[in-house]
Amino acid sequence: MKRSRQLVIATKNEKKLHELKRYLKGIRARVVSLKEFGNAPRIMEDGDTFRKNAVKKALIVSKFVKGLALADDSGLVVEALEGEPGVRSSRFAGPRKSDKENNRKLLKLLAEVPLKKRQAKFICAVAICDNGHIVKTIEESCKGRIAFQARGAYGFGYDPLFLIPKYNKTFGQLGLKVKDRMSHRSKALKKAREFLKKYL
Ligand code: IMP
Repeated sequence: MKRSRQLVIATKNEKKLHELKRYLKGIRARVVSLKEFGNAPRIMEDGDTFRKNAVKKALIVSKFVKGLALADDSGLVVEALEGEPGVRSSRFAGPRKSDKENNRKLLKLLAEVPLKKRQAKFICAVAICDNGHIVKTIEESCKGRIAFQARGAYGFGYDPLFLIPKYNKTFGQLGLKVKDRMSHRSKALKKAREFLKKYL
């Protein structure tokens, strides 16, 4: 029997590892995180696109482990703010600010913007690299609008502000089952899973 390979997820975040593992169920690889490696490199996410950040992380990690690595990078793009917060989504209000503070800043900037001009999308880029070579990149999005106030307690980040017009509810109110079906990350990871099923 062929020995299964290892796929290293370019993160030290256990929550992210578990979420990605769930999406990647069924591939012929043992999915592990960078936490399993003592001297793992620290990687700066300094690209100006989600794709560049995902590729940078996957390339560095795949060279480091001399094998297969997958990285993702995501964030929120708001039309009325010319794409902000974009790649700065996690540090929109400042380097060590909380999700709440990021949300507050977003609401303030959009205070005068009417609902029909509050279009936004979450974007998720995924890159898969094998021993220093890019073998696949994927980008998926999920469209919505920015609500006028935070609603709901599910999820993280901008979920309480991200309104899905079809349900007139935010991701914060809709819960993980609905989010899992339609989110940028789940769509991108489903494609990654299909690719890896053939690749491995
Ligand atoms: P990451 O690249 O997945 O770590 O996401 C970067 C930042 O984008 C997060 O810290 C959040 O602020 C925002 N973000 C990405 N995906 C989501 C999501 O599904 N819901 C809410 N916020 C998100």
